[in-house]
Amino acid sequence: GSVIGILGGGQLGRMLSVAASRLGYRCHIYEPGAAPAGDVAHALTTAPYEDEAALRAFAESVDVITYEFENVPTAALDLLESLRPIRPNRRALAVSQDRLSEKDFLTGIGLRTAPYRNVETEADLSEALEALGVPSILKTRRLGYDGKGQIRFSDAAQREWTGAPSVLEGFVDFSAEISVIVARGVDGQVAAYDPGLNVHRDGILHTTAVPCGLPQGLLTDAVLIAARIVNALDYVGVMGVELFVTREGLVVNEIAPRVHNSGHWTQAGCAVDQFEQHIRAVAGLPLGDGQRYADVEMENLIGDDILRIPELLGRPRTQIHLYGKGEARPGRKMGHINRVL
Ligand code: ATP
Ligand code: MG
Ligand code: MG
Repeated sequence: GSVIGILGGGQLGRMLSVAASRLGYRCHIYEPGAAPAGDVAHALTTAPYEDEAALRAFAESVDVITYEFENVPTAALDLLESLRPIRPNRRALAVSQDRLSEKDFLTGIGLRTAPYRNVETEADLSEALEALGVPSILKTRRLGYDGKGQIRFSDAAQREWTGAPSVLEGFVDFSAEISVIVARGVDGQVAAYDPGLNVHRDGILHTTAVPCGLPQGLLTDAVLIAARIVNALDYVGVMGVELFVTREGLVVNEIAPRVHNSGHWTQAGCAVDQFEQHIRAVAGLPLGDGQRYADVEMENLIGDDILRIPELLGRPRTQIHLYGKGEARPGRKMGHINRVL
């Protein structure tokens, strides 16, 4: 059987490994830090991304390399790519590792994003604030997630900036946030799941619900946007596309070149969930049936939410997923539940 290499050993890598096992594949996880995925994968390498010998041995033990974490250093990717195919491809990674290149790419293929400006100097910040006004949001170009690395400006006199290369975004007056989980196969076939409605709490995704209750025409637009993005990148795998719903239509917030937290509902709502779909795509299999057959609400279990497990275990029509992470620090994603409505 084939072996799938996964860069990143967090909960997404863990759920990818489980899906791969079901299809008869073996997984080898590469993770520099703590690796909840290590318990379920067939092999685990714990080494930094600077360790060339470890990277080489990892690549040589697998048939294809994918990732659950998009911030793998470029030098490591160059070495890995010289040995095995990386899916989704390097361009998808390069575009989504940097919020500026991501927005340039999206607007370059004719999609709408928040108005934005690059900020690398104090002068850039002044010009950006002048152009976009307030409210606006300064986001670090690299490495931000769960709202980390963001500063909201409500007043033009306020200008804290860490000095890290950033983008200033004009505030989008949205009525809802939705996401499309889209997949593209090696043969170019595209399949999208029903868009989900996302609600955040303290900058972290709290719930995703399907159906999302918005007009069908809007949902079709959302799926067509997602398809345009994966086609433009010649993408192979699953991608999460986050969108704002506004009076003027859909605005793309960001893309994630991997399985996505807002797609966890597919585990309870579809015959083939996003994890299996991703494994199918990167392994070169045909995409599976992602048609939704249930109404589902996914809720993240964050930090102390896991104290609710005794009660959750008794709930009807509820799937519990725990990531085996140990200590429940505030803001840490410990698991999620899928409630079938
Ligand atoms: P994730 O964990 O989804 O990767 P992130 O740290 O990359 O999060 P974003 O998705 O860019 O952050 O922003 C987090 C949330 O902040 C968004 O889901 C949205 O609610 C809000 N937000 C971000 N950008 C804007 C904007 N330009 N206008 C209005 N709200 C915004
Ligand atoms: Mg993000
Ligand atoms: Mg986001």
